[in-house]
Amino acid sequence: MAVAAETMYISADTIPGVAEERQAVREEAWALIGHRKELQATGHGAELPPVLDALSTAEYVLEAEKGSEEYTFRLGGLRQDCLRLVSEWFRKKRPEYFPPVRHTYDAQAVDFYSHGLAIGQMTLNALRPIVGKQEEVARRVNERVEHETTRILRSMGSVALGGARVKRVRTLSECTDTAIKEYAHDQKIGAPHGGYDGYVPEIEKLMVRDMISEEETDDRLQEQVGLPGIYFNHDIITRALERRSIDAKDMDKTALHGTQLIVEDDLMEFTALLDEVASEQWCVNIFMGEQVPDGYIKDYAGFRAEALRRQDGLKDLAHTVATFVLDLAANGFDKTKAPKHVENFVKKLLLEEAKKDIAVAEQMFNIETALGLQEVVRLEEAGYHQEAFKLMQVIEKEAPGGGYCSGGACGLESIDLSSDIGQEIKAKLKAKDGDIIVKDTDRKCKCGAKEVYYAYTSTKVNKYCDNCGAYESKQTSVSSDE
Ligand SMILES: [Zn+2]
Repeated sequence: MAVAAETMYISADTIPGVAEERQAVREEAWALIGHRKELQATGHGAELPPVLDALSTAEYVLEAEKGSEEYTFRLGGLRQDCLRLVSEWFRKKRPEYFPPVRHTYDAQAVDFYSHGLAIGQMTLNALRPIVGKQEEVARRVNERVEHETTRILRSMGSVALGGARVKRVRTLSECTDTAIKEYAHDQKIGAPHGGYDGYVPEIEKLMVRDMISEEETDDRLQEQVGLPGIYFNHDIITRALERRSIDAKDMDKTALHGTQLIVEDDLMEFTALLDEVASEQWCVNIFMGEQVPDGYIKDYAGFRAEALRRQDGLKDLAHTVATFVLDLAANGFDKTKAPKHVENFVKKLLLEEAKKDIAVAEQMFNIETALGLQEVVRLEEAGYHQEAFKLMQVIEKEAPGGGYCSGGACGLESIDLSSDIGQEIKAKLKAKDGDIIVKDTDRKCKCGAKEVYYAYTSTKVNKYCDNCGAYESKQTSVSSDE
């Protein structure tokens, strides 16, 4: 694919006025972090604003009247977040395209909103000192500046920008060195997979994000692509930018992340540029950051369409997750435990999906997990259910993602269906063969007992309390919604 040479990029900081305003936002952000550090040091850490997580989004849904238009709107936001979580995990170690998400502008609040949640506020709330994570703190400051850049560019008007209205602002987010180091260390000492602040150090994943100003409204759209960063290392990226007249040679990853680029090409055109430069430099054929055979047809539009189809196919799964999260929020579930609890719930769903396809298993987890799951399938087919269950327990523990199943304490305990008690619970849950059946050891039922069980698949969640007998079944497929 030929890349038009005339599409040169402009760094926002080369525009007089814009650079100064961005610098002011940056300084304010650091000052706020200093202030919050002071609060923590003097025992006022509780005054820090909460960082938004899945459970707070669900609480926000529940604040609206059930069945109202507002409720549906907010639920759409929760489902969108869940779809993003599931889709990112599904393509964890492969490239993926994520379609534009709307950020609605509110002139009165001078902020952008995603399904009712203030984005500017979120970028402010994220600013705080994190021990041993100076790089991550600097990234959050960058994200605050990135967010404010839309407003700054608009306030400048088109005159200062040479008559043109800025349409696209691009940010390159490389995997942090901290995450890469932590991952390498964990691998070396055989420690379990950590969270790595949401980065994917296995492939040093690069996220490229465009903020697109909509012409007809004051809204903006956020579009992203995730790319394996092994071939697209920092050197390849700076070489590619050089071809678009951006000098990033002296910038490290965090400095580049803090640079907003005004561009005219789209994300797939930029990916094609990275592929072109990487193919030349590595002397292998590269498409979407991955090596492909010589003569491979690089169909970027096709990749985008395929990604949309793939994510459409994950909507049932995402709805199931949203249903679970809403239920936890309604239950007043412990917020500190919620993110891991949700992750474990998703992990079990994805492990079931991974049983069906070894390639999918490897891209979501790793080769060990993929091979182990094949063995589980073999055991199940041969009727060795207890052995299959035992092996599955080991695989689940060792598979990357989720976690906090340490020292025998796991929030969602799998139930051995080869036991009599397991069969009894299965019947009470009205579960079918193939359902994931677990006991939730963290949440309390309305009756006060910690005896809640679930049977779930990508299209339903059944819940049963073995103390009071309360039972509930929810269909979660996209089609059951309409
Ligand atoms: Zn109960």
